[in-house]
Amino acid sequence: MKACLANLITTRIRQDVQSMHAYAIQESTGLVKLDAMENPHRLPAALQAHLGQRLGALALNRYPDGRINDLREALAEYAGMPEGFDIMLGNGSDELISLLAMACDVPGASILAPLPGFVMYGMSAQLQGLKFIGVPLSPDFELDEAAMLAAIAEHQPSIIYIAYPNNPTANLWDDVVIDRIIAAAPGLVVMDEAYQPFASRSYITRLAQEPGRYGHVLLMRTMSKFGLAGVRLGYMMGPKALIAEIDKVRPPYNISVLNYECALFALEHADVFAEQAQDIRAQRTLLVDALQALPDVKTWKSDANMVLIRVANAAKTFEGMRSCGVLVKNVSKMHPLLADCLRLTVGTADENKQMLAALKKSL
Ligand code: PMP
Repeated sequence: MKACLANLITTRIRQDVQSMHAYAIQESTGLVKLDAMENPHRLPAALQAHLGQRLGALALNRYPDGRINDLREALAEYAGMPEGFDIMLGNGSDELISLLAMACDVPGASILAPLPGFVMYGMSAQLQGLKFIGVPLSPDFELDEAAMLAAIAEHQPSIIYIAYPNNPTANLWDDVVIDRIIAAAPGLVVMDEAYQPFASRSYITRLAQEPGRYGHVLLMRTMSKFGLAGVRLGYMMGPKALIAEIDKVRPPYNISVLNYECALFALEHADVFAEQAQDIRAQRTLLVDALQALPDVKTWKSDANMVLIRVANAAKTFEGMRSCGVLVKNVSKMHPLLADCLRLTVGTADENKQMLAALKKSL
């Protein structure tokens, strides 16, 4: 049976898939979990009980129904969706990124993104059999405008991803440079605003003001960083006709009844999540100040709920922190520009204190 299975795999599973690694999720049991940019706050107890009642009353025997449109409307209103735009929902923005690659899979199509960046952009291209062009950032993690424009001219990409702010570098890039990239783009540009709750700027107002200039731009967001990473709900807004085409590749019922009821509930209590985001931004300021006071740590400024640092030996510090009970992300192997870098998620005041103590002990 073993030999038989091996044969089945080598002959029937795509060769490039066989040589891939699955998306790695770190084991976090018993650790202070600061590795995945989650909101550290749970729903207040009263809201947990209220949501429990709502979920208990759902007709789980039925497929998701028209209530999904209530969620689309609520999200559009919450985000301030521009006129003439429509909204598409994904099982996390991860799914939207995959669906975009599928919808844009014309012969010779390519996807371009600055690197280091979010891994799903490259992975979606690879899985769909599209070419991926990664354009290195400058050593201080700014966009290399000349390199971006040259790569766009050479490869004529179908999709350009601009993460705003970027993961894992946590910074917002210069809008003037982004605008020149948008102007040069022959295909779609996706502004990925996953970290919008913590960012000082958004592109949404610009899209509304100048539809002529941004007619090929899509804006992607997620409820994950809002405080619902466990729910899995991403959304993408863009010109109606464009969203209508991309939405055709979405699997039916991709958003479960539980997903949309939780998301609707969260939007009804958006003030609670806004307060949590406010606390996270305040904790980020304290964390960055404390990190900057450490002589052996290089700390970059952040517009997200993560902070990138460089230490003398990332592997040693990561392991040291883990043995102190704190899990962060060692991103140093992701890209040469990230040598000896760790990505720290901003947690609660108490979690950040534990993280700082573990870091100091492990440098
Ligand atoms: N975009 C960026 C830039 C991210 O960092 C992430 C996840 N960390 C996502 C999209 C995906 O988010 P989700 O699938 O949870 O919506």
